[in-house]
Amino acid sequence: MTEQLFREDSYLKDCEATVTAAGDGYVVLDRTVFYPMGGGQPGDTGEISWDGGSVRITDTRYGDDGEIRHLAAEGANLPGRGTPVNAALDWDRRYLHMRMHTALHLLGSVLQYGVTGGNISADKSRLDFDMEDTVDKDQVTADVQALVDENHPVTCRWISDEELEAQPELVRTMSVQPPKGAGKVRLLEIEGVDLQPCGGTHLKSTGEVGRFQVGKVEKKGKRNRRVSILLDQ
Ligand SMILES: [Zn+2]
Repeated sequence: MTEQLFREDSYLKDCEATVTAAGDGYVVLDRTVFYPMGGGQPGDTGEISWDGGSVRITDTRYGDDGEIRHLAAEGANLPGRGTPVNAALDWDRRYLHMRMHTALHLLGSVLQYGVTGGNISADKSRLDFDMEDTVDKDQVTADVQALVDENHPVTCRWISDEELEAQPELVRTMSVQPPKGAGKVRLLEIEGVDLQPCGGTHLKSTGEVGRFQVGKVEKKGKRNRRVSILLDQ
């Protein structure tokens, strides 16, 4: 298994690591700062370099056994097993994912409806809400911006599966159930605003979201509103 350094510190931009497997266009390391695609957040991109070589990483995904695979272009030269490497992610892109991801938590706390889906990218992100009401874009923008400007601390902590089962109200997202079976679940807390299971990478305080704006609101069925958000780049 890969040690997931990004879980404890999402601000790590690179790390030293050792190759534990390589081949078929991917590299597995004993530890990494690269976030694997999941929970609506894209996998990280970046570069793995070693004494005498480097390879461009185009995506990061979980493998079949829970290992984290750093994907490279087909035919790329890869470091062999046991090679010490430096793994550096594309920080500007990842930081936008963190701002977007944290902003979506704020959006979900302003629009108190069930969430049926979501997607994050560096230039635009969205949540789908189980709601029939119309969305007042200006009001929601102002409400979220106020939460940003109040600069609430954002922290993570772990609770056991049993503790989570005793508090089902923590799980607001209906389509994305938190991963269970590992014995513990990661809780994301935006102090005074939001508390829910989440495995993604977040900011350390809401102020870093910056300028927030509700973009398009689309009607995707009678009880589904797709709300897109934009941030200053
Ligand atoms: Zn999250």
